[in-house]
Amino acid sequence: KAVRKAIIAGNWKMNKTRPEAKELLEAIKPLVANAEGKVEVIACVPFTNLETAINATAGSNVKIGAENVHFEKSGAFTGEISADMLVELGVEYVVIGHSERRQYFGETDETVNKRTKAALAAGLKPIVCVGELLWERECNITEEVIARQVKLDFFGVSAEDVKKSVIAYEPVWAIGTGKTATADQAEEVCAFIRATLAKIYDEATAEAVTIQYGGSMNAKNCAELLSKENVDGGLIGGASLKAADFNTIVQAAV
Ligand code: PEP
Repeated sequence: KAVRKAIIAGNWKMNKTRPEAKELLEAIKPLVANAEGKVEVIACVPFTNLETAINATAGSNVKIGAENVHFEKSGAFTGEISADMLVELGVEYVVIGHSERRQYFGETDETVNKRTKAALAAGLKPIVCVGELLWERECNITEEVIARQVKLDFFGVSAEDVKKSVIAYEPVWAIGTGKTATADQAEEVCAFIRATLAKIYDEATAEAVTIQYGGSMNAKNCAELLSKENVDGGLIGGASLKAADFNTIVQAAV
């Protein structure tokens, strides 16, 4: 764990207008300033808030991410946003393959893989989400599901590039439900993801990848989750919309 810097990222989902985004970031900035150099603090915001968010966080230790990216460079893809467009704005991270995108918007491991490669090629750091459904956990195929996602989502990604990537383990049954994985469940799967990376790449590469837990992480349960050896941070939905709660999670990682 010592080789990896913790990363706490907020996923705002479809929330906040520009003035609201500015207000929230202005509240977060001073609270998390002490985390500089210790914890990477990121807010992943809707496309319409990116420019406002980048301006509001300029000169601070809060980095900005997008919530999706298209895999083509440009062209007839109405409604989509390319990696180059995000880079030009000053965006550093991008969430890819969030379970809500997989569930509601037809995202597959194939498109997640294409988006991940496009992001990396443009210089964006992808936060790639993987996680099993409740049904899959109950059928005892969590490891199969996770291994498949990791293999497919990073197919053709070099060791050098996977080290620039973040993997978020987000059990689908824990997202937005108030049901959190226990710290032991989170550790078990995050360790399994690292072991899978070691098989695909090598031990040193696997050790260098930041693996987050996400799924109803909050101010109360964050300390235990983040204390685990293979849990290198969190991807935070609901609790990232409140400055005080988000900061509590950041401080638990400092
Ligand atoms: C998420 O959106 O990635 C997430 C983990 O949401 P929540 O924290 O609200 O469960």
